[in-house]
Amino acid sequence: MSEVGSTKRYRPETRLVHGGTLRSQFGETSEGLFLTQGYVYDSAEQCEARFKGEDPGFIYSRYSNPTISMFERRMIELEGAEAARSTATGMAAVTTAILAPLRAGDHVVASKALFGSCLYVVQDLLPRYGIETTLVDGLDLDQWQRAVRPNTKTFFLESPTNPTLDVLDIPGIAEIAHKGGARLVVDNVFATPIWQSPLSLGADVVVYSATKHIDGQGRCLGGIILSSEAFIAEHLHNFMRQTGPSLSPFNAWVLLKGLETLGVRVRAQTDNAAKLAEVLASHPKISRLIYPGRADHPQAALVKKQMRGGSTLVGFEVKGGKAAAFRVLNALRLAKISNNLGDAKSLVTHPATTTHQRLTPEARAELGISEGFIRFSAGLEHADDLIEDVAQALERA
Ligand SMILES: *Cc1c(COP(=O)(O)O)cnc(C)c1O
Repeated sequence: MSEVGSTKRYRPETRLVHGGTLRSQFGETSEGLFLTQGYVYDSAEQCEARFKGEDPGFIYSRYSNPTISMFERRMIELEGAEAARSTATGMAAVTTAILAPLRAGDHVVASKALFGSCLYVVQDLLPRYGIETTLVDGLDLDQWQRAVRPNTKTFFLESPTNPTLDVLDIPGIAEIAHKGGARLVVDNVFATPIWQSPLSLGADVVVYSATKHIDGQGRCLGGIILSSEAFIAEHLHNFMRQTGPSLSPFNAWVLLKGLETLGVRVRAQTDNAAKLAEVLASHPKISRLIYPGRADHPQAALVKKQMRGGSTLVGFEVKGGKAAAFRVLNALRLAKISNNLGDAKSLVTHPATTTHQRLTPEARAELGISEGFIRFSAGLEHADDLIEDVAQALERA
């Protein structure tokens, strides 16, 4: 195998295409797909050396694999991280990044506005193992500050949040975490690596569901954790080798091909979302529109400071509650009803009855998830087709 050297001197678009490539003796153009569980050794001595960590190379695909390694290396170069470990799903990445460094008696502070499964991990799972969690309004820095205890080890947040697209102050929250001796873990799925780099904003660990924009074409699940070498060596390396939340090499290959077009897709989807938001902003059937990147976004100044672009997602509230929202969803022809996001196909979600149905009505109200709220994930269709589709559907609201 020959390594294509570091692409860090190049711009992100170039890193997405070339970063981390390992080329075999056949000189293939596209990244090789190594569907192998294990590896054979030239000698017993080489095998011994590899297990001792003295001979570089692969041992077993639960640990790593050339295709998986290429995916991790490309993400490392894109994100500006020192190291990474990929996982079978985004939730495996979130769970591992949070759970692996902690033990009973530790304390976690997290923003309330989380993806449903992330909320389960911090609110229901951690306490079963003696790890307490405090949930805060992520927008309120005082609440983060007041939640810190001597045993606080991890802060966790998503920004922009799902589904209400609030933008949290990553540098401000990182500072509070570090003063309190805690690390900040950021789920960067909604921002994508194209529009936001949490490590450069002060976060210690970044996690992705690669299922979303990184694949972006509805094919496979995957996840990744990016951080310093030290964090991975101390907390993740052994935990992941022995517990095995590993990514499939096949999915790693799909995700590598996804990365090649990530920049182009996220930009085009963001343009579509922005155009749709512009039309919805003044639509008579809509009582609320949220789009990061617009001057009327509640944290517009923060968006400018910490993000390089807006979002591929638009949130809006249809007047008339659930019945009206359902009529709109059912009348859409192009945009498909789905709980997924970041796809080439436009997808719409009704969070109150799907991703956030587990919450009490009061908890939903507190997060701004009303019965009329719709999350729209803009795809790669022509913007005018999307706008016409939403406009005809809103006539039924
Ligand atoms: C989808 C999602 C996840 C979970 O990812 P999976 O790949 O579905 O396991 C975690 N966080 C956020 C913000 C997500 O959107």
